Amino acid sequence: MAVSKCARLSGASIGDLLDSVDSVLFDCDGVIWRGDQAIPGAPEVINSLKKGGKRVFFVTNNSTKTRKMYADKLGKLGFNAREDEVFGTAYCSAVYLKTVCKLDGKVYLIGSNAMRQELETMGIQAVGVGPDHISGVQNDWANVPLDPEVKAVLVGFDEHFSYAKLNRALQYLCNPECQFVGTNTDTRLPLEGDKAVPGTGCLLKAVETAAQRQAQVVGKPSSFMFKCVASQFVLDPNKCLMVGDRLDTDIMLGSSCGLKTLLTLTGVSTIADVEAHQRSGCPIRQEMVPDYYVDSIAEILPALQG
Ligand SMILES: [Mg+2]
Repeated sequence: MAVSKCARLSGASIGDLLDSVDSVLFDCDGVIWRGDQAIPGAPEVINSLKKGGKRVFFVTNNSTKTRKMYADKLGKLGFNAREDEVFGTAYCSAVYLKTVCKLDGKVYLIGSNAMRQELETMGIQAVGVGPDHISGVQNDWANVPLDPEVKAVLVGFDEHFSYAKLNRALQYLCNPECQFVGTNTDTRLPLEGDKAVPGTGCLLKAVETAAQRQAQVVGKPSSFMFKCVASQFVLDPNKCLMVGDRLDTDIMLGSSCGLKTLLTLTGVSTIADVEAHQRSGCPIRQEMVPDYYVDSIAEILPALQG
């Protein structure tokens, strides 16, 4: 089947697309780096875009790092990047709790130290980071001591996730006044060599299942990620380009917020995935079809240097 919307970006069309935008939002993993290695040519692309006057933002669902940790990683890999250009879900969840939930109290955090730091920067105290072990019998679990100041449960990536944490989250969420927020719903974190490990979506699903409640999700494809950037920098969606490797998060976010969308094939999604969405005839799946695609973002470099 011919791919009509998802056009391969090449030649003069690259320059035309870049001329039509003033801001470019990049997903990170699978787009500008893979694990700890920059995608070849990616630092030059980012640095040239900025040199040419474009605003660049880094928008990632990964909740394991603070803005500062991302800025440090970007710098180490050769990207010219500032902390305030980074929008990870550790930071965005803290903004969400403060501005949307208007949280007045503590957070029970299933997550990392990085998430706790971002919450603290926003003036929100978090409890629960680190291992939690179950003890006693079932009746003890149902009466586990709770902090009365906790007014929200936040679930992000937590390598210490356990039955004890799941139970504690459930006990907090039995109170209907307790707010329930998740960083993102990514089910797997892809690794090199077709390997993968369970993602935050698995942990969030477990807590949702136990609590019989749905979390408010901050990360892509939730439009909050774009709103968070747009609230700090004046952005016209028509003049923004979202670049990502995942159709269900990056491209979906771009489409639903009215941004132009570019899929890069250095990460998770493939052209076969795009074609399946196009063939489906389903309006929601159509939103996951990008406007353009490239094999790697390095392909746009000649247009920036020319
Ligand atoms: Mg990605």
